[in-house]
Amino acid sequence: MDRDLYFMSMAIEEAKKAEEIGEVPIGAVLVINDQVIAKAHNHRETDQNALAHAEILVINQACRELGTWRLEDCELYVTLEPCPMCAGALVMSRVKKVIYGAKDPKAGCAGTFMNLLNDERFNHQCEVVSGVMEEKCGQLLTDFFKELRRRKKEEKRKLKDGQEM
Ligand SMILES: [Zn+2]
Repeated sequence: MDRDLYFMSMAIEEAKKAEEIGEVPIGAVLVINDQVIAKAHNHRETDQNALAHAEILVINQACRELGTWRLEDCELYVTLEPCPMCAGALVMSRVKKVIYGAKDPKAGCAGTFMNLLNDERFNHQCEVVSGVMEEKCGQLLTDFFKELRRRKKEEKRKLKDGQEM
């Protein structure tokens, strides 16, 4: 199996774990020399913490694991294009390469909305590979938001029915 597909599949498994606990399904895996050193999924709602994105969580784990803030040999696999916060953290931790699945037209800072990952004005640039298992990564998100809208509609209807009684 292609290594990008292998590690992205792992990130997708993480995304599914997020979905199981009602989080937006985004997962990330950090790899060094073909070895996984950190895996995480979005935890924003659970932790009620705006910083608890999958990428930030793996960076945290990896720094602890490796005992350094410099993640120069690390490659990050993530199901959704990183947001400005995560793209900033990836540059600051000097991650070598970022491989992502689905594009994020609203907040993607790895080339879609803007590109923080290889702007030469910063003193570090991450290599970027986009669109790995894009459809699968995107589908997870589409399905999640569809289900969320359906549930909200249902709740509204129930509320309305209750008022009419
Ligand atoms: Zn983020």
